[in-house]
Amino acid sequence: MTDRERSTGTVLNLCFHGIGTPGRNLEAEEGRFWVGLDQFDEMLSVIRGHPSVRITFDDGNASDAGVALPALAKWGLKASFFVVAARLGEPGSLTMGDLRELVRAGMTVGSHGMHHRSWRTLGRMALREELSEARRSIAVATGKPVTQAACPYGFYDRRVLSELRRSGFARVYTSDGGPARPHSWLQSRYVVQRQDTPEFIEDLACRPRGTFVASAVRMVKCSIKQLR
Ligand SMILES: [Zn+2]
Repeated sequence: MTDRERSTGTVLNLCFHGIGTPGRNLEAEEGRFWVGLDQFDEMLSVIRGHPSVRITFDDGNASDAGVALPALAKWGLKASFFVVAARLGEPGSLTMGDLRELVRAGMTVGSHGMHHRSWRTLGRMALREELSEARRSIAVATGKPVTQAACPYGFYDRRVLSELRRSGFARVYTSDGGPARPHSWLQSRYVVQRQDTPEFIEDLACRPRGTFVASAVRMVKCSIKQLR
């Protein structure tokens, strides 16, 4: 159990997208979720001091393997990568070889679906393709079972969640922000944006939302810990 877990009973899940320069055409508004190379490195240097912060990546961008993997190795950190099955091998996206490299490095590879579309709006067959077929093809690529999923755009509803449960996923990530219980099936994440500073990430790591007064004490404790 980490310090944060002991004091708050929570973990902070961060969701990154791309790092550096995109190698594909981005969707509208997607650019604000791409962070700079130095910005990312500085954020990892902060995260390293907080074992209860979990790192995830969505969308399977090529920068996951080209930039994030060496940076994570440099700081001795692990992460989960949620990839879009139908994008594998496309320009700007991870290849199957990249996925195997991630797994070899001790990273977790999960599913972000087949075509990167909202699961909430899909009919039964299309939802099944997004959950079961995507999962199968990612498992074939990595040579490992896929047990975790992240909802595209963070969108979900009761039907999506029950289908994810029925499909046997052991953990599902959303983008609802705020802290999460370490062993919950549903894991909320904070989506990192270009405008975020390493100091802001540090603040998030130390201060669960909605508990401002109690968190002020924890922030001091966090700050003291960093000085040691
Ligand atoms: Zn996504």
